[in-house]
Amino acid sequence: MRDGKTPPSVTAISLTAALREALLLFCGQEGIKVCHNWLAQVLLYDPRLYPLLLQFDRDLADEVHAARCPRCGGRLDCADYPRKPRGGPKDLGEEYNERLSFCCALEGCRRRTTPESVRFLGRKVYLGAMVVLVSAMLQGPTPPRAAQLRELFGVSARTLVRWRAWWQTAFAESPFWKMARGRLRTPADVALLPLSLLEQFAPKEGHERLVLALRFLSPMTTASAPGGQAF
Ligand SMILES: [Zn+2]
Repeated sequence: MRDGKTPPSVTAISLTAALREALLLFCGQEGIKVCHNWLAQVLLYDPRLYPLLLQFDRDLADEVHAARCPRCGGRLDCADYPRKPRGGPKDLGEEYNERLSFCCALEGCRRRTTPESVRFLGRKVYLGAMVVLVSAMLQGPTPPRAAQLRELFGVSARTLVRWRAWWQTAFAESPFWKMARGRLRTPADVALLPLSLLEQFAPKEGHERLVLALRFLSPMTTASAPGGQAF
């Protein structure tokens, strides 16, 4: 642990009741009248979400750091990537300008190892939470129009079309998805990705959908992970 206190298992669980409620509504299990403006504020702009995801990324990085270099067993030094993520609250904090990564300290190896991430979806400029939730909103019980999404999240209609195509093709055909979909409880409808993925994670299990979905997706955010590939 970098801060020496929070075990990884704790970080995934503490999303708010409001967030859980929003996800239930959004997935159509308890009524379909969703005010998307309210949803946007509660869900993507909840100030508690992003520190939580950051903590999760730090825990993932700590595990990688402790395991040392996968090639030579050497010590790993910090070699974070600069990032400029879009989406989410304005004051995300400086930590969000970096994707955590390491480089082997041993001269002659220097291999880069990048931990999985629940914050960054590969090289996409928008935060992973945005790409998952905003894409899924298009498939909800009362999908907002592209113009509304643009107003709420600043995501253009063209970007939405690109994200949609990405889920249906690049993601659906990726080695990661082909390997990982077998771990889901029920087969996920590819045509309804990523909503069909979110629906796999039931809040009743004591965890929360969005964080679990991001955790599920995290191996594909780095070429360093088994089955992973940097998008
Ligand atoms: Zn090494």
